[in-house]
Amino acid sequence: MGSMQEEIIFRSKLPDIKITNEMPLHTYCFESLSRFADRPCLIEGGTDKIYTYADVDRLSRRAAASLAKLGLTKGKVVMNLLRNCSEFVFTFLAASRLGAMTTTANPFLTPGEIKKQLVASGAIVVVTEACAVEKVRDLAKEKELTVITIDKKFDDCLFFPDLIEGEELELPEVEIHPDDVVALPYSSGTTGLPKGVMLTHRSLITSVAQQMDGQNPNLDFSETDVILCVLPMFHIYSLHSILLCGLRVGSAVVIMKKFELVAMMELVQKYKVTVAPLVPPVVVDVAKNALVDKYDLSSIRFVLSGAAPMGKDIQDAFRNKIPNAFLGQGYGMTEAGPVLSMCLAFAKEPFDAKSGACGTVVRNAELKVVDPETGASLGRNMSGEICIRGQQIMKGYLNDPEATRNTIDEGGWLHTGDIGYVDDNEEIFIVDRLKEIIKYKGFQVPPAELEALLITHPSIAEAAVVPLKDEMAGEVPVAYVVRATGSEITEDEIKQYVSSQVVFYKRISKVIFIDAIPKAPSGKMLRKELRVQLNAQVS
Ligand code: ATP
Ligand code: MG
Repeated sequence: MGSMQEEIIFRSKLPDIKITNEMPLHTYCFESLSRFADRPCLIEGGTDKIYTYADVDRLSRRAAASLAKLGLTKGKVVMNLLRNCSEFVFTFLAASRLGAMTTTANPFLTPGEIKKQLVASGAIVVVTEACAVEKVRDLAKEKELTVITIDKKFDDCLFFPDLIEGEELELPEVEIHPDDVVALPYSSGTTGLPKGVMLTHRSLITSVAQQMDGQNPNLDFSETDVILCVLPMFHIYSLHSILLCGLRVGSAVVIMKKFELVAMMELVQKYKVTVAPLVPPVVVDVAKNALVDKYDLSSIRFVLSGAAPMGKDIQDAFRNKIPNAFLGQGYGMTEAGPVLSMCLAFAKEPFDAKSGACGTVVRNAELKVVDPETGASLGRNMSGEICIRGQQIMKGYLNDPEATRNTIDEGGWLHTGDIGYVDDNEEIFIVDRLKEIIKYKGFQVPPAELEALLITHPSIAEAAVVPLKDEMAGEVPVAYVVRATGSEITEDEIKQYVSSQVVFYKRISKVIFIDAIPKAPSGKMLRKELRVQLNAQVS
């Protein structure tokens, strides 16, 4: 690598601000508590139960006192094995108060997957729901592990409502260092096994401040906003950009246990949701589903999309359908703390933003684009691996210094594994993941680009593109397609549709119809599963 060569560094258009990140995360989130103590903090979509800011503060203290008695002291780990619920929030904040860490997982994982994360993270307490209790019970017998359920009593488990009832107990005095880990989320496992990511008080405060603080915050949310929380809080996107960002400014967070389109529209209407953070498959659903037209969604100011690529066309289709709501993208990665870039049209004094772009690098951070082969840093409009540096990035992978060294280099740059570029307006475009780019005779074919094109066809509901090994070309793109309801579109029609719009090497060589594209709960398509299926079929 040309170390003599000067690095080309991209910065936000927003000026850097002073970020006070030396305090514990909960202190930072509740810094203005006295101003919104009586305002709604959490609204449970299913039960219409409302917790004010004062309630959440009190119940998380109470939970902290009880968890401390169970041994959850500084440096210890609790697992939130929960769908979205208020108890998730109480536990997370309680652990923060104790200098402990929360690791999060989807209760619908298999017992084996959950066990792996419980063991790897060293969790000593797990907070879960009746539907998942069976999956952790046996382990609790083998290992020092307390199981707490939130919705139903079991003989061999503690019951969360009992822990937060009654008088406020005394909290132990804990000294929390800014570089102590507070959250231990696992990456989505899109490319391989999920990895334990250590996020500190400092990193999460920095990341929230990059969005919410300063004269001109990048995300202009306030105490009058009502934020929809349908994305799972066990994924860092929701935990950070909905919960922590919302708490910082006193917004109300409307919690949905699981995604269902009609129920979501009803909640938006009922609570006059103003901010809706979503993922691309949900955006596609809203843009294409006629059911949506029956609802009054005019309260929504902002729709945020992140976690996976979204093409220009679908973004335009959505904007035409719900013109009151501005749709923009953010780009995040668990290891990046998590937000790398955010649409500047969400700022208090907004900038223009293009469809298809996933924002501008966050303030108080540096971004560069490097040639994956030579490491040389690239200028505007040139695609390469995106790297980011700043106090928001992770401390490292849990118990894996080698993987950490491979991801964060000596200069402090976090390598994302994503290919993208920065344009003349400082906007970032993600092309695809480095590992998933298809190579046709040496030409690069980004599957995300073909997927975005495929779903512009009215007869196509969803699409995923994966490589198939080919003797002549090395790899060729194969499309898995979910037909729209009632459609009988054929393989040839689809190939024709694509080939009329792309250069020869991006043509689809084969179409396979399928009922649904496998997806992670974070909204990401699991191309790896289709790749395995495809290769098994062919060989
Ligand atoms: P694993 O690392 O375990 O394979 P993962 O990378 O999917 O899983 P996450 O940390 O949840 O786990 O996701 C981060 C990735 O999501 C980014 O590296 C990027 O590939 C993708 N991503 C996030 N936001 C966007 C966006 N707006 N546009 C395109 N891709 C995005
Ligand atoms: Mg990743």
